[in-house]
Amino acid sequence: MEQYYNDFGTWIRQKFPYRVQKISIDAGFSCPNRDGRIGKGGCIFCDNRTFNPTYCDHKKTVTQQLEDGKRFFEKKYTDMKYLAYFQSYTNTYDSVDHLKALYEEALAVKDVVGLAIGTRPDCVNEELLDYFEALSHRTFLIVEYGIESCNDKTLELINRGHNFACTQWAVEETAKRGIYVGGHIIIGLPGEDAAESLRQAPIISSLPLTILKIHQLQIIKGTKLAQLYDKEPFHLYSVEEYIDLICQYIRLLRSDLVLERFVSQSPADLLIAPKWGLKNYEFTNLLNNRLNPNRSLE
Ligand code: SF4
Repeated sequence: MEQYYNDFGTWIRQKFPYRVQKISIDAGFSCPNRDGRIGKGGCIFCDNRTFNPTYCDHKKTVTQQLEDGKRFFEKKYTDMKYLAYFQSYTNTYDSVDHLKALYEEALAVKDVVGLAIGTRPDCVNEELLDYFEALSHRTFLIVEYGIESCNDKTLELINRGHNFACTQWAVEETAKRGIYVGGHIIIGLPGEDAAESLRQAPIISSLPLTILKIHQLQIIKGTKLAQLYDKEPFHLYSVEEYIDLICQYIRLLRSDLVLERFVSQSPADLLIAPKWGLKNYEFTNLLNNRLNPNRSLE
């Protein structure tokens, strides 16, 4: 199928001579925006219950979670290899020695061929980044930062606990060490309309990111955002509006930026809105159809 952007699937297939799947891990980390070091209560949209697939449980060791994840995916493809995806909470929020032990444990598991490590931009330092640089010379490594917005007013409103300058620093310091850098943004945060998202696109694009994940704002039960939404509902995009916006957004990004996803789908029992009922690949198909200049107009 023709692609109208640099998609993650194609990019990762060029990196490995075999099929590669990420396995999510909950390594039992906390988050400084929850435990009081930076903030309490966390980002207003956050509920980590939405991150974890069923095989992923912080009471199990990293090795056990990876072995369970492998069993889950091996049913589909026998020749699969894996990236250990440290996904839940802040996966660099511990002593460097403890972090090294966890990452090395993951890399020692058979058929694990690399790591993806999700974190906050204010939870890396030069020592850790130097270790990541050395690590990236001997294994495949993506360091992924939650950016969420470039607008400091929004970052304050969502109780993010860091500003955009912090994100710029972390992304630049990581990229300058030759490490693949991922970024995660949310479209439709309170106070950010379509024009504001489009204003931010070139700013995001100017960061030395390798990969970008874009998500629609979701209101999850039990979060501060859910309380806000209940008290004073604000506009959430319909699928049609969101596709239109993403089409415009993509056109403002540099063409070599790898786009990994455009939506997330939280478990139905936790999701308040928007209830699109679309799987990731279904959204991507709709988007590709919209981006196709030869599409038929129904
Ligand atoms: S989104 Fe990430 S940084 Fe924010 S509270 Fe949740 S785990 Fe912490």
